[in-house]
Amino acid sequence: MKPQMLIKGVEWEGQIKDILIEGQYIKQIADSISVTAGIEIDGQGKALIPGLINAHTHAAMTLFRGIGDDMLLMPWLKEKIWPNEALLTHEDVYWGAKLACLEMIKSGTTAFLDMYYKLPATAEAVQEMGIRGVLSCACFDHFNPEQAGKSKQEIQSLFAGSDAYGPRIKFALGPHAIYTVSGALLQWIDTFSEEHNLLIQMHVAETEEEVSHSVKQFAYTPVRYLNKLGVLSPRLSIAHGLYVDEEEIRILADKGVKVVHNPASNMKLASGTTFKFTEMRKAGITVGIGTDGCSSSNNLDMTEAMKLASLLGKAWRKNPEALTADEMLYAATGQGADILELKTGRIAEGYLADLCLIDLNLPAFTPNHHFTSNLVYAANGSCIDTVICDGKLLMQNKKVPGEEEILKRVTELAKKFR
Ligand SMILES: [Zn+2]
Repeated sequence: MKPQMLIKGVEWEGQIKDILIEGQYIKQIADSISVTAGIEIDGQGKALIPGLINAHTHAAMTLFRGIGDDMLLMPWLKEKIWPNEALLTHEDVYWGAKLACLEMIKSGTTAFLDMYYKLPATAEAVQEMGIRGVLSCACFDHFNPEQAGKSKQEIQSLFAGSDAYGPRIKFALGPHAIYTVSGALLQWIDTFSEEHNLLIQMHVAETEEEVSHSVKQFAYTPVRYLNKLGVLSPRLSIAHGLYVDEEEIRILADKGVKVVHNPASNMKLASGTTFKFTEMRKAGITVGIGTDGCSSSNNLDMTEAMKLASLLGKAWRKNPEALTADEMLYAATGQGADILELKTGRIAEGYLADLCLIDLNLPAFTPNHHFTSNLVYAANGSCIDTVICDGKLLMQNKKVPGEEEILKRVTELAKKFR
C-alpha cells in the first residue's frame, strides 16, 4: 500500500477542505474524506497554499550573508565575494546549501532554481533536505577559448553524473551573463540544452552598465544580442531583465523566454527599479519571482519577495492598482512552476503534493478579510507552520528535524570567510 497523508479541515480558497495525498501526488480534494491515513494533519486554524517557488538564487551564498553590505557592485565582487568564493570547498557549499534549504523550508519554499559552483555538493544537500532543486551549473569563459573548453568539459561531466543526484533534482545550465560568457559558448550551451532537454538560466539586462557595455562590445542591447546569437528559446529563463524595451519584450514573448524578477537584489545593489512586470505578462511572458543569493538579498524569504515586487512595481508606476497580491502569489507559485517545468505550484488533484500550511493564529492574519492580502502584504515567511514536499512532511509546528546541527556547522565553517 502507498504511504498516505490526510490533511483534515484546512482552509483553502475560503472553504474548509480535506486533502488526501498518495505517494508524491495530491490524490483528492473534498469537503470530507474518510480514510485512515498513515499521517493525519489537523488543518484547523491553518490555511493551505502551494509550496512557494524561488525561481532565482545562489543557495550556498548563505555563507556570505552580511559580508560586504552597502557597497558598489564591482568593489563588492572584487573585494568580498570573489576572494571568498576562491576558498570554497565541497563541504562549504554542501553546508551553505543545507542552510539555504533549511531557510527555504522554514519560509515555505519547496522548489528553487539555483546557479552556483560545485553543483554536486548542492545536489547532495537538496536531496537530504527533501525539497526540489533545478540546479544550473554556473559557467564562465571570460572570452578565453581555453576556458570555454574547460567549461564544456565540466558541463558534460556534470550532466553525465546527473542521474545520480536524486529524483527531486534537475540538472540545468547556468551561463553567468553576456559579459562573462562568449557568444560561441552561449551557442554551444543552447545546442547542448536542446539535445538533452535541459533548462538554462542566465543573468540578463540587470544593470545599465551591462546594457551600455553590450552596445559597445556587441553593437546590440543584451536581448537583441542574444536573439542575434539564436539562443533565445523556451528553455531559457533570464534573471532580472530590468532593462528591456517594448520590442525586446516582444522578442522574449515570441521566443517563449521566461523572466525572473528579483526585487530585493535589484534594490539593494541599486541595479534599478522599473521591472516591467505588467508589460511582460500582457505580452504573454511567464514571470516568476526570485530572491537572488543571500549576499545580495540577505534572506531567501519568498513572502517578503512577493511584497517587495508588488510595492516596488506600484511605486515606480505611481499606480496602486498594479501588481496585485493575487498576481504576486501566482508569480511565486504557478508561474515559478512553469519556469522550472514542474507539475507543482498549484493545488489540484494529480499535481505534486508540494504544500504549505499557514498558521492563521497570528496578528498578520487577524482579521482575515482577505487571505492573500494578509499573506503578501502583512505576513512574512515565519507564518509557515507545516511544509510538505513530494508527499513527505518536511516541517511541522515550525520545526525542521536537524536544524540546530545545520546552524552550528555553518557558524563554525563560515568563520574563515570573515
Ligand atoms: Zn543572481
